Amino acid sequence: MHEALLTPYPFVKVALPVPMRTLFDYKVPKALALRHELKPGMRIKVPFGKSSRLGIIVALSETSDWDPEQVKPFTSLQDEAPVITKELMALCTWAARYYHHPIGDVFFHALPVLLRKGENAEFRTENWWFTTQQGQTQPLEQLTRAPRQQDFLKAVQQHPNGLSQHAASVLGLAPAAGKTLEEKGLLRREQRSFNRGGEKHAHQTQVPPTLNPEQSIATEELLDRRHHFGVALLDGVTGSGKTEVFLRVMERLIEEDKQILVMVPEIGLTPQTLKRFESRFNTDIVLMHSNMNDRERLDAWLLAASGHAKVIIGTRSSAFIPAPNLGLIIIDEEHDNSYKQHEGFRYHARDLAIKRAQNLNIPVLLASATPSFESLSNAIQKRFVWLKLRQRAGNAHIPEMERVDLRGQTLVNGFSESALAAMQLCLDRKEQVLIFLNRRGYAPTLMCHQCGWIAACDHCDVNLTVHKRANKLHCHHCDTQKALIHTCPECQSEELFTVGEGTEQIETQLHTLLKDTPILRIDRDSTQRKSAMAQLTQKIHEHDQAILIGTQMLAKGHHFPNVTLVIVMDADAGLFSADFRGMERTAQLITQVAGRAGRAKKPGHVLLQTYHPDHAAIECLCNLGYEHFAINGLSERRALALPPFFHQVIVRAESSNEQEAMQLLSAMRNDLEPLFSNEIFLVGPYAAIIVRKAGQHRALLSIKSAHRAPLHQATAMMTQWLEQSTRQHKIRFAIDVDPLETY
Ligand code: ADP
Ligand code: ZN
Ligand code: ZN
Repeated sequence: MHEALLTPYPFVKVALPVPMRTLFDYKVPKALALRHELKPGMRIKVPFGKSSRLGIIVALSETSDWDPEQVKPFTSLQDEAPVITKELMALCTWAARYYHHPIGDVFFHALPVLLRKGENAEFRTENWWFTTQQGQTQPLEQLTRAPRQQDFLKAVQQHPNGLSQHAASVLGLAPAAGKTLEEKGLLRREQRSFNRGGEKHAHQTQVPPTLNPEQSIATEELLDRRHHFGVALLDGVTGSGKTEVFLRVMERLIEEDKQILVMVPEIGLTPQTLKRFESRFNTDIVLMHSNMNDRERLDAWLLAASGHAKVIIGTRSSAFIPAPNLGLIIIDEEHDNSYKQHEGFRYHARDLAIKRAQNLNIPVLLASATPSFESLSNAIQKRFVWLKLRQRAGNAHIPEMERVDLRGQTLVNGFSESALAAMQLCLDRKEQVLIFLNRRGYAPTLMCHQCGWIAACDHCDVNLTVHKRANKLHCHHCDTQKALIHTCPECQSEELFTVGEGTEQIETQLHTLLKDTPILRIDRDSTQRKSAMAQLTQKIHEHDQAILIGTQMLAKGHHFPNVTLVIVMDADAGLFSADFRGMERTAQLITQVAGRAGRAKKPGHVLLQTYHPDHAAIECLCNLGYEHFAINGLSERRALALPPFFHQVIVRAESSNEQEAMQLLSAMRNDLEPLFSNEIFLVGPYAAIIVRKAGQHRALLSIKSAHRAPLHQATAMMTQWLEQSTRQHKIRFAIDVDPLETY
């Protein structure tokens, strides 16, 4: 007689994290089929070549495309329940097709690192302390001679529902004391699973402000639409109270027991943002970002997946976080480039989130003071609901922007006279100045006065940046670092000098110039340590007058109430960029930085230092603002058949040999172009602007079309061609759909 099989299918189709765009067939071992019901989304161990791999079951199957005798059985089952839910399975499958990326890699990308490595998808367990009956009534005085035990027992007595080991260490209680009390029969221990459910944080401390009319209209609109799919663009100037609007909408959805995913840019999540959420919602909030370790990320993932976490705040990769009751996705600073992954699986988290919301029939809210041209265009064409906030919330005013013409001026440390004067006045008023320079390090170039030698990276076609404080030469493209030298390697002269300025240099020079003024630098170098950013912002809030110098990190989401003057040192950076998105990015950065001024009651002022004060873009931005600028920019894009009016895919190839990458793309173009539809437009192959990076020579081919279907068809043909042709060669290729970088 046959025993009933829990899994009646003889085969599984499996996705593996390998660069092949295919699924792999395995047999279901009989013993396993008897005991387990296999489901798509579960992880299994499979033999692969001579080794073994972790794979994801994509489908159960009656048949195999291969000779059944040749199909190997898989080794073991890793999960009791799918780690890729049905919903995420659909999303990943769509993403693999849309981005022409190997499905196995997409699945693995969607999982936290520890699950990719085979860790169990379970909460870790933790010790909890409880009093025994005797321990509950034990008078503390009897322990006066053992103060640590006394403290320990007292703390546990005060927690009738138990004290976690984590909480005990936070209280500074000695673990040895706990053990002794256990031996005495006063305490007992229990293993409990680590899920912070129930350990509610806050008490609603913050009283929400009364919404202004613009905020009320936006909130009502969003509430009306909260149960269906739709994309809304909350387009509000910096400080207009966008966050306040989405806090209101979230509040209602939390009452309806929904989960909410709030996406923030890579470095935009400030301690301030988190505090604000925590002070408003009496519910479990989890974070998911790159500063957390792998275990913390898995814990957050589990809390979201179990439905415990009601609010999930995360960066790009949280687009894939499982959340069974997801009711809303918010994408803050939706224009931010960190939502696009620039290597490997090149997805855009915003676009993925929109697809996900559509599958789930829930709304998406995009928020920005400087919406991307893509989103603006969708809003103009009424594909997105366009909600505008044009007033600053409370009493704050929009800062004025003024151009400072640098032509013919004598500059002191890169500052014009009028900028220095404005800075002094601001400090005299006991207010803060923010200086924006999007270049970290001391100087971008080190040069020899005698022979003209320039310190360049050995692996890239770029100069090395001088970092004086760290005493290093650093390549910002491949991360190569060398000791700073003081003798020219070509002519042995000791007359080496730096050209150009970075944030570190401005900081050093202003220290000399303004001895007693606190000067704080905020860039990737000064904020490497985990808590550095929090400490810096703390310092900024402690001082009245101060100077903040920073890169684009400063442009993101921070609220410095005492900043009233912003100086953009080099407004021309990006003005003549080879990339057609250069202007858009510059305008976004300038507007965002400018928005740091005058966020509270004091009015703000912005100075843009430029050698091109009459450049149409700068003039438009200063006089008419971002929206005008963007609308002009969009009509230019339309005329030039550029995104978002045309869709684009870029194929990249790189080889250690100087010509190979270029030759490969040329050969592909020759082979395939005759087969493409006449709606396809090709440019290239062309060399990347920085041709050599980390030792690889890079070539690109751009494909455009007014319609997605022919573009995808052509891309699929190219992917197939490249997979076949690169099998023998050591050339790497990448497909970039909707690329943000095109050089
Ligand atoms: P944004 O997200 O658009 O930058 P925020 O929501 O952070 O703006 O609001 C900016 C500041 O104004 C915050 O300090 C916030 O508490 C305050 N604020 C927001 N809405 C109001 C309002 N209706 N009345 C008074 N203050 C407000
Ligand atoms: Zn020299
Ligand atoms: Zn380099």
